[in-house]
Amino acid sequence: MTGVTDLLREDLRGRQPYGAPQIDVPVRLNTNENSYPLPEPVVEALQRALAKELAGLNRYPDRDAVALRTDLAAYLGHGLTRDQVWAANGSNEVQQQLLQAFGGPGRTALGFTPSYSMHPLLAAGTGTGWVDGRRGAGFDLTPAEAAAQVRAHRPHLVFLCSPNNPTGTALPLPVLEAVLEEAPGLVVVDEAYAEFARAGTGSALALLADHPYLVVTRTMSKAFGFAGGRVGYLAAAPEVVAALQLVRLPYHLSSLTQAAARAALAHAGVLLGTVEAIKQQRDRLVTELRRRGATVADSDANFVLFGGLGDQRAVWQGLVERGVLVRDVGLAGWLRVTAGTPAETDAFLAALDQVWRPAPAPSSAAPPSAGSTAAGRGAGTLEAEASGAGGSQLRRKPG
Ligand code: PMP
Repeated sequence: MTGVTDLLREDLRGRQPYGAPQIDVPVRLNTNENSYPLPEPVVEALQRALAKELAGLNRYPDRDAVALRTDLAAYLGHGLTRDQVWAANGSNEVQQQLLQAFGGPGRTALGFTPSYSMHPLLAAGTGTGWVDGRRGAGFDLTPAEAAAQVRAHRPHLVFLCSPNNPTGTALPLPVLEAVLEEAPGLVVVDEAYAEFARAGTGSALALLADHPYLVVTRTMSKAFGFAGGRVGYLAAAPEVVAALQLVRLPYHLSSLTQAAARAALAHAGVLLGTVEAIKQQRDRLVTELRRRGATVADSDANFVLFGGLGDQRAVWQGLVERGVLVRDVGLAGWLRVTAGTPAETDAFLAALDQVWRPAPAPSSAAPPSAGSTAAGRGAGTLEAEASGAGGSQLRRKPG
């Protein structure tokens, strides 16, 4: 008799599942959650909304989540209506449904690494071929480079992420325009962190009206502080939303989820009240990390990628031992930290000061050589460079 692993699909054998460590330490800054608990008035509104649903749990929920999609369309603005909006259990599920409907065996999706690690995993799960697109030396992506890779691979889906996880930087609009111009299939812009973007950073939502292949995914997990509620959504042409009905499970969004999300959306102003405080901590992290000699790009998200660490695993471990959990995203020399409360920033910086000192120049040769996901960039010293509105990038110092 063969073992169960021999029965597994060949293309899934030996793969690793998504696995951000869930370690119970006092300061958890590793999954870009919102550190602030929901305010009491919102908790009470959720309790009332959920209570109303309880006796009716003998019935299936609204399969089409019409009321929730109407509320989400109103929140997004841009003249969007509910037939252009779709919701599921997190934007991960929305993206999985996109791959189920538009990808699949014999089809390919292209993303530009390093980016959100779930995109290739969702592709794998749906049997969609994954093309690891390249970025420039400092993780930057130019319109010409992006368009050339789309032209070369002609993928059925392109995944872009703005602000990009893990680098934190928003995608310059010309890159999106170049990809839209070239792409033969759907162009998915993952805007999970859009609410944290700095002033002047546009959303791909503004381009939807003119681009029927464009899909913008969003989530309530980050700015809304609703990660445990599991609600993600997308905006796209009505034809895209209609196509997803072919692959979504019936009644995929529970009555409780729909009611809770609607109650949360009704308090969007209060919930998004933490965004400014989080942006302040993010900017403080950028400043403080640079002051300590780390390589840091300006961030449009609620996290900061910092490099020049040498052995990032040792730094990560040292931080965990001091009760601070950050994220090792698999890039040699780099770690990612979520912006949380002022006290969490204090704790992170205090712990970092105990575990890491930059090597003195010029022998600070800890080469931020790219890790497995960013192979082939070679050695050199990276430094942060502001390059105009919303387009801060990392660039390689000569030598
Ligand atoms: N997109 C990006 C870029 C993310 O970082 C995350 C969460 N880590 C998600 C999507 C998924 O969020 P959720 O499924 O909670 O909506």
